[in-house]
Amino acid sequence: MQPQPNCCPNPHLTIVQQLCWMPSHGQNLQRCRHCGTYWRFDWEERMNFEGGEDYVWEYYTCLTPEETEQLRKGEEGDFPNS
Ligand SMILES: [Zn+2]
Repeated sequence: MQPQPNCCPNPHLTIVQQLCWMPSHGQNLQRCRHCGTYWRFDWEERMNFEGGEDYVWEYYTCLTPEETEQLRKGEEGDFPNS
């Protein structure tokens, strides 16, 4: 995981699919329009207990084709078509 995508010199990510959406945490599947690499993007809002501003913690995880496939299947539910 990393703070910025680095799949190619000038990554341009677009959201493919929302995976998780909660008030303080979200996760989605993104794809680079330049090189086609899939990334999982996670963000989380963190309270600052020392009195400063809250901040959003976010990171990207580069996905293999297998991982991408799993995430996309997961969104359709655990029940196979019968
Ligand atoms: Zn790229």
